[in-house]
Amino acid sequence: MSELRQNFATKEWVVIATERARRPEEMAHHRERKPLASFVASCPFCPGNEKLTPPEVLRVPASLDVPWHARVFPNKFAALSRDVQPTRSVHRSRRAVNGFGVHDVIVETPDHAQVLALMPDSYVAEILRIYKTRYDELSLDPRVALVTIFKNHGIDAGTSLEHPHSQMIATPVTSVQVRERFQTALRHFDDYGECMFCQMIEEELEEQTRIVMVSEHFVAMELYASPAPFFTHIYPRRHMASFGDVSAAEMNDLARMLRSMLAKLYHGLADPDFNFTIRSAPAESVGVKYFHWYLSVIPRLTRVAGFELGSGMFINTVLPEAAAEFLRKVDVESVRNGAAAATR
Ligand SMILES: [Zn+2]
Ligand SMILES: [Zn+2]
Repeated sequence: MSELRQNFATKEWVVIATERARRPEEMAHHRERKPLASFVASCPFCPGNEKLTPPEVLRVPASLDVPWHARVFPNKFAALSRDVQPTRSVHRSRRAVNGFGVHDVIVETPDHAQVLALMPDSYVAEILRIYKTRYDELSLDPRVALVTIFKNHGIDAGTSLEHPHSQMIATPVTSVQVRERFQTALRHFDDYGECMFCQMIEEELEEQTRIVMVSEHFVAMELYASPAPFFTHIYPRRHMASFGDVSAAEMNDLARMLRSMLAKLYHGLADPDFNFTIRSAPAESVGVKYFHWYLSVIPRLTRVAGFELGSGMFINTVLPEAAAEFLRKVDVESVRNGAAAATR
């Protein structure tokens, strides 16, 4: 029988439609992905074309084998502008803030054909350290209320640019969705005196059925009330409200876990389009005891349709426990070692 499940953290309901249940492996799209070249002369993110992008705000410099590891610069087609003071206007039923905001692009590698899932862990760690550096800087800006870090991989995830990159947008307001989640967590803390995420992580670690991976500092799991197939959260095991609180050792551990998680999707589900995003306490709430940051990986295997838009409830056709079991079994380390052996 199908089941309606409630997300503990957001209170949102989802329909786990086991009547129409699909086996996890049926979700792989096995599309023709055209092989990419490592360098594309017309690509603004490829090395040699640095002048085609706005001036850099940050660069991870060259090493022996690459001209640079990663670059950060303002989005040329930024949704918001960093050079204005946010001023509010309220006129009867209409309120607005002028278009202040910071919109960064993070080019993750000089190699046009590379993907995060197959990079060395140390390169992924460099990218996460860039996120943190920029996150810390933008959080200190008094004009900024919320910093959102995200990656779009593939057309179904909202990008047509092939060259591996992620983005960061700082806004002068906090969305209702983020605010409500924050208030739900605060209410839980007031009622029970504990972080609702810490409680949920502890219960999931005991039960094991939705756990995909556990490391010293992080845990990756399918959500009990997962709104879509293979929707995966990576949580720090230690209580931390903000992504800015991650230590250097934890960052290396997070890089390993994120890379393995993306590799499991890459090998297990034939390189699906996906988004990931970091959900962290808003800038003014660093250090609070009631919110716990996490990284959310969302493979784009299904489409949002009328029921979801009309009701705010999602229908998920893959049982989260089956998705977790499937992902646990995708052995990315032997694939990786096999590939390394083949190139020697
Ligand atoms: Zn490129
Ligand atoms: Zn916590």
